[in-house]
Amino acid sequence: MDKLQRLMSQQRSRRITRLRLARPRRGGRRRMSRRAFLALGGVSAAGLVLGGGLVYSRNRLLTSPTFSEYPFTLGVASGEPVHDGYSARVVLWTRLAPDPLNGGGMPPNDVEVRWEISSDESFSNIVQSGAEIAPAQGVHSVHVAPYGLEPVRYYWYRFKAGDEISPVGRTKTAPETGASLSSMSFAFASCSDFQEGYFPVYRAIAEEEDLDVVFHLGDFIYEYGPDPESTRVAETPAPTDLDTYRNTYAEYLLDPDLQAARAVHPWEVIPDDHEVYNNFEGAPEDEDQVVAAALAYWEHMPLRPSASPHAAEGANLLLYRDINYGDLAQFNMLDTRQYRGEPPDPESDNGGDVDTADPEIANDMVGKEQETWLLDRLASSGARWNVIGNQIGMFDYQVGEDVNMMGWDDHGYARDCIMRYLDDFRPSNPVIITGDLHCSWVSDLKAYYPDENSVTVGTEFIGTSITSGLGESYAEKYKAHLEQNPHVRFFDERTGGYVRVDLTPQEWHTEMKLVDTIKDPASPVRTFASFVAEDGQPGAKQV
Ligand code: FE
Ligand code: CA
Repeated sequence: MDKLQRLMSQQRSRRITRLRLARPRRGGRRRMSRRAFLALGGVSAAGLVLGGGLVYSRNRLLTSPTFSEYPFTLGVASGEPVHDGYSARVVLWTRLAPDPLNGGGMPPNDVEVRWEISSDESFSNIVQSGAEIAPAQGVHSVHVAPYGLEPVRYYWYRFKAGDEISPVGRTKTAPETGASLSSMSFAFASCSDFQEGYFPVYRAIAEEEDLDVVFHLGDFIYEYGPDPESTRVAETPAPTDLDTYRNTYAEYLLDPDLQAARAVHPWEVIPDDHEVYNNFEGAPEDEDQVVAAALAYWEHMPLRPSASPHAAEGANLLLYRDINYGDLAQFNMLDTRQYRGEPPDPESDNGGDVDTADPEIANDMVGKEQETWLLDRLASSGARWNVIGNQIGMFDYQVGEDVNMMGWDDHGYARDCIMRYLDDFRPSNPVIITGDLHCSWVSDLKAYYPDENSVTVGTEFIGTSITSGLGESYAEKYKAHLEQNPHVRFFDERTGGYVRVDLTPQEWHTEMKLVDTIKDPASPVRTFASFVAEDGQPGAKQV
């Protein structure tokens, strides 16, 4: 059992108690606002079974609620486009939250939410519709995963609760695994500290045309409390428990540019440390907090219903997964936080020896199960481009005593296992996409880093932050060591951007983009560097 799973089963009884406590109480601060939720109409029999086969029998289901405040304040989102062999599927998300910054403002009942999928923007041709439960236990979030959709096409979707209708979202389905695909496009981004600035980057992502999918590679929220010195001061306090994490997500999701980016493209998300707390490494200082962070993350992301940590006994927040775009690309999304162990001690007998293949140490970054899964996925992939979506820098960067990169360098054994695998088994065109560092890097991936002359086995692109800052001293220290690290092909210290990738069987084309300023939500975006990697030739070239 992995750490979070074990922890969650230990915590389960306590957690359920806490979730019950989280329901509105008479006279308590979480009391349902009468202003926000006036009438509880259309109560149906308890124990009704709807979508996903989940039974909610603890309270009465509301099928026709009446709201005095708009409940779809946090917008809509879609994610995890897949093809199950029969049809395309995609997860559709929303949450009922008429009073979003104060726990949502909903009653303690589960609520029925209807959904519609249309082949056109005006909903004149609804191809599917249904009803799903927004469970009180899941803070009235909705995760629907309809099947029967056609591959590689746009759909529009919306939700209804009572007489209220959500904003319209658009999504795009994935092709069948292995199907011939001549091109695809995606964006990747990370590190979006609300207080550091506005989100012109999310607006620019929303305005990107023809994206198949958007990857958010972590630090979607920051757990910092209100900072009066910041560009926009948070209203919600630093999250420490389930209620406060939920309010923090709500505050982020109220941002119109973030809502637009989530409404226009399907997203694939993986969390990094700040979704829990700074430098969270799977060895929680506060186990309750880790469980709360996992629950709130799932509740607010367009993740598949089966990933829910609310689900049956034994379930955990399973986030590492593969995503397939026909024969063109396979994306293997990693979870480098939940299964991480202590980095090897450099003072120990074999701590500095990268040749040591001690499996206990080697698997300390992603855990043995996940590493085996990753290597299996790479081995069985028929895709032209094999992408690893990853939170923290995988490339080696020698900086002496200057600064700790906090990346895979700290777990060199685990990194070297993957690099050796890429060298030995040569999966087609490995490329790693990464966030976390709040600056931009392009680096060759080397089979064996201590030997600069060892072969290049792939490329890592690290995109800069959406808003989060890079301390000046970090920028200086990074720059001071570039010559020592000739496998690094590009570095740029500016923040406030994202990366677009256009992919064909012959070529990987990357555009790194920056906004002029994150102090202005309307700031324009510009491409500042472009790179090409050609099929069969590891290593990217700036163009
Ligand atoms: Fe960050
Ligand atoms: Ca981080």
